[in-house]
Amino acid sequence: MEAYWNNIRKVVPYTPGEQPKEKNVIKLNTNENPYPPSPKVMDSVKEIDRLRMYPDPAAFELVTGIADYKGLSSDQVFVGVGSDDVLAMCFLTFFNGSLPIFFPDITYSFYDVWADLFRIPYECQPLREDFTIDPTDYKKPNGGVIFPNPNAPTGVDMGLLDIEEIIKANQDVIVIVDEAYVDFGAVSAQCLLDRYKNVLIVQTFSKSRSMAGMRIGYAMGDKKLIKALNDVKYSFNSYTMNQPSIVMGKASILDEEYFQKTRKEIMDTREWFKEEMKKLSFLFPDSKANFIFASHPKISAKEIFEAAKKENIYVRYFNKPRIDNYLRITIGTRAEMETFLSFLKTFIDGKMQK
Ligand SMILES: *Cc1c(COP(=O)(O)O)cnc(C)c1O
Repeated sequence: MEAYWNNIRKVVPYTPGEQPKEKNVIKLNTNENPYPPSPKVMDSVKEIDRLRMYPDPAAFELVTGIADYKGLSSDQVFVGVGSDDVLAMCFLTFFNGSLPIFFPDITYSFYDVWADLFRIPYECQPLREDFTIDPTDYKKPNGGVIFPNPNAPTGVDMGLLDIEEIIKANQDVIVIVDEAYVDFGAVSAQCLLDRYKNVLIVQTFSKSRSMAGMRIGYAMGDKKLIKALNDVKYSFNSYTMNQPSIVMGKASILDEEYFQKTRKEIMDTREWFKEEMKKLSFLFPDSKANFIFASHPKISAKEIFEAAKKENIYVRYFNKPRIDNYLRITIGTRAEMETFLSFLKTFIDGKMQK
């Protein structure tokens, strides 16, 4: 007989995008930045000493670096091991009521995983047909709200007025704005922090700062919320930020010129890529992120996804209601996008002739 135990926590884990082992792939499936981190990040490695010792549990150097850069005080910033860690801590800290938390039906697929893990009731609010969020859906009683801006995997951004409408209607709970992609052209809700004490803005070094491998994320908000987050974090694991992440994250923040240059490069490539995709008849909502979410009127997304993979080009396909005919395509270098486009042209021409 199979061994059987009671009391085991049963969860359905989040499925991350594939990380293929081969070297010669064009990887447009996990929204990584195609450029390396700032050269100053690599230079800062020399300053990493003291690996023998525990890192600063408060990661003070990195926290103050982020706070200075954002014009905040250090008690308004919380850092974690990627924004996934920060968001998980936020769920644990702020979503403790009996009312369901709200997030969109099409969104970052980690939200329902954390809710299930922490036994938080939740209710998904459907996006409109055009994939925009309807703020009125978030005016019913709830235990908290979270949404990304721009949203993932759609790339659709929300204006400041709509965001404020949601925050204003929910001042008795915490509203989290997940700004993982905000540096690629959307407007940050940071300016609302002064007026609303119930907001947390979460950002990451993984996308716009090319440091997914270092795992650095942060939350910005009222110092009472930051204190609450730190209290939970110190009750779980004090030393989450390792010494290299603290030093290299700080170095990245200090290289503003490189940050501006590379994020502009990606936005320019994205705008050019949108035009090329239109020529191939693809349909997609306008994206303000480092990816586009595209559908072809004649050929199924799954078919394109599989054919691309055979050519060593990885994009993301979600076999989920409402989005199972879309591909999420990360913006890589111009050369990578050209290779992908020429694959698409050949594949679509071949299909049309049949
Ligand atoms: C990538 C992503 C994150 C998490 O990124 P980290 O690498 O953990 O910082 C969080 N939210 C959304 C919407 C993302 O796409």
